[in-house]
Amino acid sequence: MAKRPSRAQERQRLFDAAAHVQVPGDCDVIVVGGGAAGLVAAITAAEAGAEVLVLDRDLECGRPILATGNGRCNFSNVNLDPKRFNDPQFVGAVCGDRWLDDILAFFRESGLRWCLEDERLYPMSRSSASVRNVLLARAKKAGVILAPAREVVGIDRIDTTRPGSPKRRKRQEVGVEALGMSVEVACTEPSSNYPVLPNAQAVVIASGGEALPALLDVGLVTARRTPVLCPVACDAPFLSQLDGRRAHAQAYLTKHGSFFPTWHERGEVLFRDYGLSGIVTFDLSRRVEAGDLVELDLAPDLTKSQVQQLVDPFASGSFEPGCLDGILDPQVVRVLEDLACQCWHVEWAERPMPETDAAALIDLVKALPLVATGLADTNHAQVTRGGLLTEQFDPATLASREHEWLFACGEALDVDADCGGFNLSWAWKSGMVAGASAAQLALSRRGFA
Ligand SMILES: Cc1cc2nc3c(=O)[nH]c(=O)nc-3n(C[C@H](O)[C@H](O)[C@H](O)COP(=O)(O)OP(=O)(O)OC[C@H]3O[C@@H](n4cnc5c(N)ncnc54)[C@H](O)[C@@H]3O)c2cc1C
Repeated sequence: MAKRPSRAQERQRLFDAAAHVQVPGDCDVIVVGGGAAGLVAAITAAEAGAEVLVLDRDLECGRPILATGNGRCNFSNVNLDPKRFNDPQFVGAVCGDRWLDDILAFFRESGLRWCLEDERLYPMSRSSASVRNVLLARAKKAGVILAPAREVVGIDRIDTTRPGSPKRRKRQEVGVEALGMSVEVACTEPSSNYPVLPNAQAVVIASGGEALPALLDVGLVTARRTPVLCPVACDAPFLSQLDGRRAHAQAYLTKHGSFFPTWHERGEVLFRDYGLSGIVTFDLSRRVEAGDLVELDLAPDLTKSQVQQLVDPFASGSFEPGCLDGILDPQVVRVLEDLACQCWHVEWAERPMPETDAAALIDLVKALPLVATGLADTNHAQVTRGGLLTEQFDPATLASREHEWLFACGEALDVDADCGGFNLSWAWKSGMVAGASAAQLALSRRGFA
């Protein structure tokens, strides 16, 4: 049997393949970033008739898709709702009423088939590689030039026809024809120390959640980027005993200084020694700040009196150890029982103290309190909040209001959402809008080039 190539060999193979790709001097649309949004933008523009070049700094395009949904890619959600986003008005205006239909039609045409888990959509294969592969295949079929291993380092609007223009001289030196008003994108070249300067009529920024310094050249304003959709660090003395345990809970968030919860969500919670993880926690991470109170109802399907029936059916005031083993992870039960016996409660200093151990245990099951101290493990955050301020872009076209040749989509814009396929749905749909508008502009200008 043939030996599997080592990581270094695989990297070398990808590097060699990338170095073989010829970056054209001119095309209609350049897409900066070949992730989720960039690939869809490129396909949409190319299928509309534009010559499209995708520049990505990674060794392969589409790589970020592989990590999504724990390798299964939760690519959309049947309940797409702008309210799940930080900027519902902008997202609603970009995505319209047929958002889900548009996404599903796009993927159906790409050859993907899917399945539903709760309201989340996954590829039928449950493999994120399926999503990436159908996109790469469709991009190839549409004639998109995918140029990986090219980091974009500059973006500039130029007039290459102006006599004596230094830009014109520079372009002539590297053998590129003067073409009139166009956009020059400087990117690194794997096989050379010199950047190449492809030229286009329109540029789509699809560079994801990291800063793109080249955008400073065109004066666009970016909101500070911070990680979200990650675990939450909490202060509670029992967490080390619960590390790795799970519960199906309803989480409530009460902002510091407030008396009532402002948000709640139900789903799986994973206890970690530093705090909480799991999908519900990721959604919590978009709203929580240090000092906020997080309460977990660990038996959301049972009322307080139903829990009482299990804990203390004869109202004796005490409970039998293990009385909750039938509804909760036994290790979670042990910890709650210990806390109940100590009458521990972060909030009991301010609330009436439960009179008996049994009452304390019932309270802990229905509202286990933890004080958030911040976000945790932010290196593995799924999304970045911040990015290009949305008011700089026309939601109908995703064109910059200042530079009609510049479009943006995906996480490059200051748009983020809850877990559940919402972030990728934004990437796909905003990619479609930006790609279609960029192609329209470029094609309308072709005659003047
Ligand atoms: C671990 C993980 C799991 C996730 N799971 C899900 C999920 O199941 N469902 C969901 O909806 N969302 C999920 N997300 C979020 C989702 O992946 C993102 O919202 C989505 O990928 C954003 O798409 P994008 O195209 O805007 O950015 P990306 O997909 O990040 O693509 C950006 C591309 O731009 C390239 N690039 C950046 N800078 C440059 C430069 N200077 N020059 C050239 N190229 C550049 C990068 O190499 C990259 O390929 C997950 C995220 C992570 C990290």
